[in-house]
Parts: sequence; C-alpha cells; structure tokens
Amino acid sequence: MDRVSTQTIVCSLFFMFVSLSSARQQTQPPRQQPPPLAVQNVKGNIYQVTGGAGANTSFFVGDKEVVAIDAKMTEDAARLTIAEIKKVSPNPITKVILTHSDGDHVNGLVGFPQGIDIIAHENTRVHMSKAFQTDQQRAYLPGTTFSDKLSFYVGSGQKVTRIDLLYFGPAHTNGDAVVFFPEEKVAFIGDLLFLGRDPLIHRAKNGTSIGLVKVLNALIGLDAESYISGHNELTTKKEIRTMMQSIEEQQARIQTMVQEGKTLEQVKKAFNIETPAGGSRWPSLVEVIYLDLTEKK
Ligand SMILES: [Zn+2]
Repeated sequence: MDRVSTQTIVCSLFFMFVSLSSARQQTQPPRQQPPPLAVQNVKGNIYQVTGGAGANTSFFVGDKEVVAIDAKMTEDAARLTIAEIKKVSPNPITKVILTHSDGDHVNGLVGFPQGIDIIAHENTRVHMSKAFQTDQQRAYLPGTTFSDKLSFYVGSGQKVTRIDLLYFGPAHTNGDAVVFFPEEKVAFIGDLLFLGRDPLIHRAKNGTSIGLVKVLNALIGLDAESYISGHNELTTKKEIRTMMQSIEEQQARIQTMVQEGKTLEQVKKAFNIETPAGGSRWPSLVEVIYLDLTEKK
C-alpha cells in the first residue's frame, strides 16, 4: 500500500478514534459504529449530511439536478448517503465537488453513479491519482479541476444558483477547495476547521500551519454566515477566529523558542507533547509549526 493510501486510512481511523473518545467523555458507552446518517437543512436548498463512515457531506438541490460536496469514506456509506439525498430530492446527482483528497472525503466516490462530473482543485487530483490505484477508483478521478477560482451556475430561468470554488493556498493540504454559495452566504470548508482540538495538517500533502492561518483569515473575509466543515456541527466566523488565534499564539511561542535555539524535542516537551513508542504517524500541530518555522527561509 502506498504512503498516500495509508495516510488516508489513518486519517479516517483517527477521526473514528476522536469520535469514540469524545463519546466516552460524555459518559456514553463506547460506540463501535459511527453515528447514523442525519440530514439537516442549512439554508434554502443547501443541506448537510452528518454521521456514517467518513466526513460530513453536503448537497445542493437544483431544479433538475443535485450537486454533492464530498463523498464519504466507503462505497456503502456513499450509497446510504445517496439514499438520504433521494428522500429530499429525486433529481439525479450530476456533480460531486471535493474539498480535498483525504480518504474519509473521497474513498466513497465509487458508490456514486459513474459518469458524473467530479470537480476538485488540481493538486487534489494529483494526490488522488497517487492513491486511486484500481480501475474502479480511477474512473472517479476528477474530470474538472481548477487552480484559483471556478464559478458555475446551477438551474435555469429565474432559479439560478451560483457556486464558487475558491483556493486560498496550502493549509490542511495544498488542494483545499472552499465551496462558497455567495447568495446564501454559506461556505463548505472541508477540514480547514476543527473544533475542540488542534487542526490536522498534512505536511506530506504540502499543508502548512502558516498557510492555514492565511486561509482562515480569508474565510473570515468571505461574505458568509454559515460554515460547514467535515467533522463539526455548523459554525460561524467566531469559531474560525478562535482557532486562528490559537494557532497564531502557538506559532509566536514556538518562534521565540526557535530563536532561542531550542530543538524540536525541547519544544515538544515544553508543550507536553509525547511521542508514542515507534514514532508519531500524526505530527502534532506543535511539530508542524516547528518544522514550518525552521524549514522556511
Ligand atoms: Zn482531511
């Protein structure tokens, strides 16, 4: 198994672990299964699907078609999600937009009908092309990519909805697409936001903590009221600002330590970051920041 596939699976296991841990903290019995799928109306014809295996999915119902955002982690989870979408609208799913290339967002694509338009940032297609090795998977590589911005319009006559795909630079990965509905003031931001824990940054996919702060700042600058992310409930600018400030504080503290000549081990110790035996497959935010600051010229 190549490194990218391993990484996406580990990413998914990590999120299962996080949900299990938070379930335990709420003194509920540990769950073996992810929570059941639930559909929530966000605004107008925009919906969010939470639960099931993998990250949250969203969808937009147009007068003749449905546009989905992200594709769950498994074929089964995707099929169950599509069944939920069908309860809201019988219209065919014509497009799937991907926020980035992690397995818990893209590995369910094989459960979607073949021939639909799959749209992603060009770097996300590069990551997926490495990870998608079987012919079945390769039939689902994005057919449409963009670099900075792509707008398209869904609907006809008086009912036309504009959807903007925006790229603000490397952050969680170097292919994070923000899916923005300007009229509804709703943005789907994939894994650019995590609540209650440090953000995950994939350095192996050229993600950076310095870039993440820039991107969070750009998200705050959007004329949006609701932000939908891969692993949280609906949020607003407030939560984005809080996470951005927390990263900036850690960056400032680590920058000082770097200037004092501290090693990575010393910095991790100061932050009480323990490296498990055998090494960490998930570099902590502290480690990512240290590497960003010391490798950057
Ligand atoms: Zn991710």
